[in-house]
Amino acid sequence: MGTNIHTEIWATSPQLGHAAVEAVMQEMQRINQLMSPYIDSSELSKVNRLAPHSEVPVSSELFELLQLSVGLSEETQGAFDITFASVGYLYDYRQKQRPDSQTIKSLLDAINYRHLQLNPDTQSVAFTHPKVKIDLGGIAKGHAVDNALSILKNMGIEHALVTAGGDTGLLGDRNGRPWTVGIRDPRNHQKQAVVLPLENTAMSTSGDYERYFEEDGKRYHHILSPKSGESSYEVQSVTIIGPRSTLNDGLSTAVFVLGVKKGINLINRTRGYEAIILDNQRRLHYSRSFEAVNVQN
Ligand code: ADP
Ligand code: MG
Repeated sequence: MGTNIHTEIWATSPQLGHAAVEAVMQEMQRINQLMSPYIDSSELSKVNRLAPHSEVPVSSELFELLQLSVGLSEETQGAFDITFASVGYLYDYRQKQRPDSQTIKSLLDAINYRHLQLNPDTQSVAFTHPKVKIDLGGIAKGHAVDNALSILKNMGIEHALVTAGGDTGLLGDRNGRPWTVGIRDPRNHQKQAVVLPLENTAMSTSGDYERYFEEDGKRYHHILSPKSGESSYEVQSVTIIGPRSTLNDGLSTAVFVLGVKKGINLINRTRGYEAIILDNQRRLHYSRSFEAVNVQN
């Protein structure tokens, strides 16, 4: 998945503990094989190859994630949009490559979730624009974390933490105490900007430091505004706390693009979800009921 997986598990026996860790890792692998854009045989790659030409039947898991993604696009005025990849795949952050503005302009029309035609009867997807590409990098890790937690629950585990990159899910507490989950300082890897005591919930952070390169003093990072096809600059990091990791993941990416005002408004309208935003002046912003929900002793 191009990221680190970290898990902590309390189990009643070493055997169960080892089996649980193994199950988490296997689930991560499975989702990677299904949704990675870097694996030619993944279902996602297949969709990107075939959907411009025909209706492509997909697994119910992928179909549901596509539906959820389109729903998020509608709720976020298109800030979250998996067709960002129509331009996004031309960035290579490791090789410090980016598309020039001419190329971006020529592909901007292809970024629009309305180009995704989802047919629930046949559980298939088609693209109504020839240049559309999709990528689930803004939501797949959250989905993987949700899946891992339900697998652990089914194994009888009651206390666990699973982190995939910026997405964390928590089962119960840390055996009698809350888990402490940190939000990294976007400009200092050694430091945490905020540390929160949490239990039985999930939290995702999207930051401009995960994948980026700098050129002429400008930071080109991996969260793109679907309107411009370029990195979004209003904030440095967004953290969303709520029960479902898949939604936290998608919402953190969306709020990153929306910026402080629209982002906080969106989260204030979304029941059960809270936000902490660090803006580009390094000021912190909180959603309305943050303190009521999360400050514990
Ligand atoms: P990470 O945990 O890697 O920081 P994020 O949740 O911040 O992940 O999502 C960033 C990823 O989301 C990008 O690497 C890209 O795959 C995808 N992405 C970038 N911009 C958008 C967007 N506007 N809408 C949906 N997905 C996006
Ligand atoms: Mg995300």
